[in-house]
Amino acid sequence: MTKQELLRYENEDFSWSTELEQNLKNAFQLSKFRPLQLKAINLSMSGKDLFLVMPTGRGKSLCYQLPAVCSEGFTLIVTPLVSLMEDQLMYLKSIGVEAVSLNASSSKEHAKMVLAGMTDTKSLFKLLYVTPEKIAKSKLLMSRLEKAYNAGRLSRIAVDEVHCCSQWGHDFRPDYKLLGILKRQFPKVPLLGLTATATSSVLKDCQKILCVPEPITLTASFNRTNLYYEVLLKDSNSDDSIRDISALIKERYKDQSGIVYVFSQKDAETVSADLQKKGINAYPYHANMNPEDKSRVHRKWANNKIQVVVATVAFGMGIDKSDVRFVIHHTISKSIENYYQESGRAGRDDKPADCIVYFGFNDIFRISTMVVMENVGQQKLLTMVDYCQNVDRCRRSVIAVHFDEVWDNEGCNKMCDVCRRDYITVDITQHAKDVVQILELAGSLDEKLTPLKVTEAWMGKGPAKRRKMIQTTTLSRLEVEAIITSLLLQGYLGEDFSFTPYTTYFYLKLGRKAPMLKNQSHSIAMKMRRTGLEANTVSTTQQTVQKSFRKGMIHVSGSHVNS
Ligand code: ADP
Ligand code: MG
Ligand code: ZN
Repeated sequence: MTKQELLRYENEDFSWSTELEQNLKNAFQLSKFRPLQLKAINLSMSGKDLFLVMPTGRGKSLCYQLPAVCSEGFTLIVTPLVSLMEDQLMYLKSIGVEAVSLNASSSKEHAKMVLAGMTDTKSLFKLLYVTPEKIAKSKLLMSRLEKAYNAGRLSRIAVDEVHCCSQWGHDFRPDYKLLGILKRQFPKVPLLGLTATATSSVLKDCQKILCVPEPITLTASFNRTNLYYEVLLKDSNSDDSIRDISALIKERYKDQSGIVYVFSQKDAETVSADLQKKGINAYPYHANMNPEDKSRVHRKWANNKIQVVVATVAFGMGIDKSDVRFVIHHTISKSIENYYQESGRAGRDDKPADCIVYFGFNDIFRISTMVVMENVGQQKLLTMVDYCQNVDRCRRSVIAVHFDEVWDNEGCNKMCDVCRRDYITVDITQHAKDVVQILELAGSLDEKLTPLKVTEAWMGKGPAKRRKMIQTTTLSRLEVEAIITSLLLQGYLGEDFSFTPYTTYFYLKLGRKAPMLKNQSHSIAMKMRRTGLEANTVSTTQQTVQKSFRKGMIHVSGSHVNS
């Protein structure tokens, strides 16, 4: 469909327009549509297959809830989590819309009632929520759906969190792979796939898996203009980041609600304990807690009885608090998609909020060894590292480009740390040669070097006899780490994994571009922060930062509190 043809779907002159309007106001108690909602609803009401990509919290659900209410029969909604299902049922009940669900914990009687209702013309429910497992495993459900389809009662199919179909997405669920059966069996029913994060390649994959030949895709902008994005450097060898985080929470975010995301369950426990020791009302949340504890922490936080949740990614789907003022990542996420989702829980009320990530050299390799088994896990991790490391592009533009959005330079409005500061470009060709020489020497001795070993060797902390054979540096540790990271991102260095039954080791090796350094005219540049010219920065201990950075020859992006 051309842009021109699509425009028509923004109109309100369809046979169903009056009914939509009435239900929007009376049943859903909303005054007007948000961007893209009306277009999506009109397309779906017209019987078109549609993929709707819209950031979390913008109101995707309405795009199938409202059509469901305005159509004959019922809408089938596939949802990955029972908790999401329950939230929706509770909400719909509160506004007087009839909805039911089928999942693993449904009682026999309930299931019987629901199954009977599917083909009963007197039945009142408009929405039927199911888990993908039900579609995959329940023949009874499929046979009932078929009956309903033949009787013209299956009005629409919605697949929520549709990116779960694809292994390329960030949240693959095996049962989603089987949902192609729906469109194959019920080709005349319009399908609506909804997601907050899917690149065009993920969407193509979902389209194939769901057997929808030519869906229309509507994509809302990913630019959250009220969020301020910032990357701060983290010294992996000290607790400074905790002190920095607690200072931020106590001063800048005093009495404000927030989330601190951490890497592991253990980190959730220790970081929340550390913050508590500093007098902050913080509690951990991770998958290994019992369900009552989890929902208690969630509830108290939602009611502002807890200021900060220190959470793993288990604190995710279904979190819908509007006044989150900060999301701090104590450790980088494993991909930009994950980061966008997690940080995007800030500022849902459209008021200003901050998304800060602490970027630590060692964390790259901690995560790298964790995602080594995942298809394209490394590639995705490097997108996140690139977001943190590169200061030659606006942080928002990196996110936008990742989601295949055309980026307009006016779109940031100095709402990221890169756009607020000045940078200089530094030639790092000689540094690259030094590092390559270290790896070549190790190679000739049949040795593998971890990133830490490379760092230490270059800084002259390696074995004495080796020190004589290489060019060591006087750069600071953070500078050394920044250069090694940059060389890894640019392909002069590469990753090399080794497995034991207990752990996975990460080693650095020469990358595909390393041979280019033999060419005398080849040079490598890196953009870095200019000293002393930093504009507004978050940290309260900024002076110390500048002092410690002035000592080095070059200056890396982000501010690191080092006192
Ligand atoms: P998503 O699925 O895109 O993450 P939801 O459908 O859960 O988002 O909606 C998030 C919130 O936005 C809900 O509280 C919903 O009531 C609200 N909402 C949806 N549409 C509108 C609208 N047109 N006007 C105001 N609020 C809306
Ligand atoms: Mg949703
Ligand atoms: Zn910017």
